Amino acid sequence: MKPQLKVSLKPYNTLSLDVKADYFVRIHNINDLHLARNFCQMNDCPWLLIGGGSNLVLTQDFEGLVMVMAMDKVFWPSNITVPKMSDKFALSAEAGYEWDRLVEETIQKGASGLENLSLIPGQVGAAPIQNIGAYGVELAHCLTSVDVFDFKTGQTFQLTTTECKLGYRDSIFKTHPHWIVTQVNLTLNFEHEPQVGYGIIADTIASISGQSITDPSPQQIRDAVIHIRRTKLPDPKYIPNVGSFFKNPVVTSEQVESLTQIWPGLVSYPVALIPVAKTSKTHSSYYKLAAGWLIDKLGWKGFREGGVGVHEHQALVLVCSGSAKGKDVLDLALRIQADVKANFGVKLEIEPRLFDSRGEFTYNLD
Ligand code: FAD
Ligand code: NAP
Repeated sequence: MKPQLKVSLKPYNTLSLDVKADYFVRIHNINDLHLARNFCQMNDCPWLLIGGGSNLVLTQDFEGLVMVMAMDKVFWPSNITVPKMSDKFALSAEAGYEWDRLVEETIQKGASGLENLSLIPGQVGAAPIQNIGAYGVELAHCLTSVDVFDFKTGQTFQLTTTECKLGYRDSIFKTHPHWIVTQVNLTLNFEHEPQVGYGIIADTIASISGQSITDPSPQQIRDAVIHIRRTKLPDPKYIPNVGSFFKNPVVTSEQVESLTQIWPGLVSYPVALIPVAKTSKTHSSYYKLAAGWLIDKLGWKGFREGGVGVHEHQALVLVCSGSAKGKDVLDLALRIQADVKANFGVKLEIEPRLFDSRGEFTYNLD
């Protein structure tokens, strides 16, 4: 393996941050991972794996090996031409396959399950890392297992969905960053159960087709999701961004009640009960607050300063210009965090992963 030297990572992150990697390689197979691991051990240098670069912030030149995942085979089921032989559809895709291309192809082959997750940027291998989710569906709904390469030991193994410990924008991979996903195994359906609980999807399908449709096809749902996303979210090709910059905070029903008295119209949704033991509190129910609503309410939507800002159609999305630095984006995030904390008493957690010259770090109010 002969890494390239001093490579700009601007094309490899959707914030277009122009930092350099001391060493740079593409990973085409498991053997490349072994070679990269040997390289890092021999040179005693840190490493960073990038997929599509749509959920990370690079704040400094990286003093180590940056690997870009390029394993991109898909293994379609053999019964694909006779779909009705089974109502399930099992397929596997290597980590470097483009996520949305996979979604599109599964729908073309008559399978459902991924349509609500249309147009999420990035690669298949990153999907389990934060259990990607949109419009009421998460990867967890159709994940069977994940193939892993352990960068510490060089061993390969498989994790079941349960072992992946998937949660809201969370998984075991966040606490095991040395586990590299090499392949994702999914089970989809030929029997379609539309998930259009997000009101806007049903309304959009109706407005695209000119009539109300009770049983929309996966393709109709995909078209609606793509339409909504293109209207509301900035395309990183033209406006650098990493999607939602903050997770939706989870609070108790008591907090929702008291906040609503001060902030009528507060947007919240019930979430599954968090085990009391985990919080050592006795609240009976929890609610997810729409972080975008909180930020918007404080007047940040459309804000611009220097090369960074808040998208004018979606307050959860921070945007930047070609000249901005990762630190500028993070400083804006910190100001927004502080403002939300001061006004709502709620801490917003940063969603994308943050990297400096040697590896991952956290950047928060406290
Ligand atoms: P990267 O940004 O390359 O990597 C993210 C993290 O995962 C890094 O820590 C990286 O080291 C690690 N990683 C990447 N690949 C692997 C691997 N194979 N094995 C182990 N670790 C790995 N997210 C959602 O959940 N829902 C959305 O609706 C959504 N919409 C978005 C819209 C826009 C416009 C943008 C820009 C982003 C959006 N995102 C959304 C965030 C992002 O697209 C997803 O988190 C996506 O899964 C990231 O994939 P990636 O390949 O770009 O990962
Ligand atoms: P939206 O539809 O305007 O909704 C605002 C917020 O309210 C969302 O955060 C969503 O939570 C929540 N919500 C709306 N309807 C809900 C319902 N019926 N039940 C439970 N929660 C509900 O959001 P948006 O910004 O246009 O995004 C649409 C979807 O794409 C969301 O699911 C969002 O998470 C996803 N998305 C994610 C990213 C990212 O980078 N992570 C970027 C863009 C869009 P949830 O976020 O929990 O769904």
